[in-house]
Amino acid sequence: MLHEIAPYQYHIEFKTEDPAPDDFLCLFQDGKILARETEELSLPTAAEMEPYLTGLSLDAPLFTTAPGGRYTFFCSIDTRNFFGIPGVSVNAPEGFYYRPTRELRMVTPQHIVYGAMMATQLNLWYVTHAYCGKCGKRNGHSGKERALVCPDCGNVIYPQISPSVIIGIKNGNKLLCTQYNPMHNPGARMPHPAKRSYALVAGYIESGETPEDAVRRETMEEVGIRVKNLRYYKSQPWPFSSSLLLGYTCEVDGDDTITLEEDELSLAEWVEREDLPDRSRDISLTSEIMETFRTGKW
Ligand SMILES: [Zn+2]
Repeated sequence: MLHEIAPYQYHIEFKTEDPAPDDFLCLFQDGKILARETEELSLPTAAEMEPYLTGLSLDAPLFTTAPGGRYTFFCSIDTRNFFGIPGVSVNAPEGFYYRPTRELRMVTPQHIVYGAMMATQLNLWYVTHAYCGKCGKRNGHSGKERALVCPDCGNVIYPQISPSVIIGIKNGNKLLCTQYNPMHNPGARMPHPAKRSYALVAGYIESGETPEDAVRRETMEEVGIRVKNLRYYKSQPWPFSSSLLLGYTCEVDGDDTITLEEDELSLAEWVEREDLPDRSRDISLTSEIMETFRTGKW
């Protein structure tokens, strides 16, 4: 999975130091990250970007109160740090371009992609919390921990993670597979199951729910099915949606008739184990759960 980057190690412990010359500098523009024009992901270093930052004069507290000089520490992979300057972007220097982060799940090296995606998630949190949600003033960095603080009312804001459940539902030799609504096209000819880009029933955990409550509610809402024998499988931090995914497997309980929630899904169907697509190369928890079923592990 995406976060499984051994022998490299991911670190998120808060730091206030300045970037070293060869630390990565993650700069963003419209959901894209500045990267070298190479197939593999290659990020600019702090030293490389220094000349392009000298002309910037910014008075935003996100910039002036950053503990690492003007830089904000995001995370490290081993001893290599990923820094950024939330809210600031520069024109791409020659040899670089702004690369859509959504395409990074298909790109190597995986440990750099993981660091870059966690930087993307944190950068998004910083820029969407530049103002206090309580009184509307501009937030600054805490300096003591990874938090933003309103200088006016003292409101403290910590990075947000949205817990979600990913649910593998088994019915004998079949697995319940779905497709999301944006692909909804009733007139289109469906490819063979082995070629379809399936998802699993999934959804955010609501206030006051346990993950198991969310599994039961989401399966009822999305496909109208009752489930039993819930088992926790594994978790996965998923920076593409700032989520923490909790994977569950379970079995249909009683009637297996699917009632599709059409606002969210375009398709839900029972797929025979032998007809499932090979997803062994994908990096998502969804794919891993589908693979464990396809290869007969549950
Ligand atoms: Zn405030």
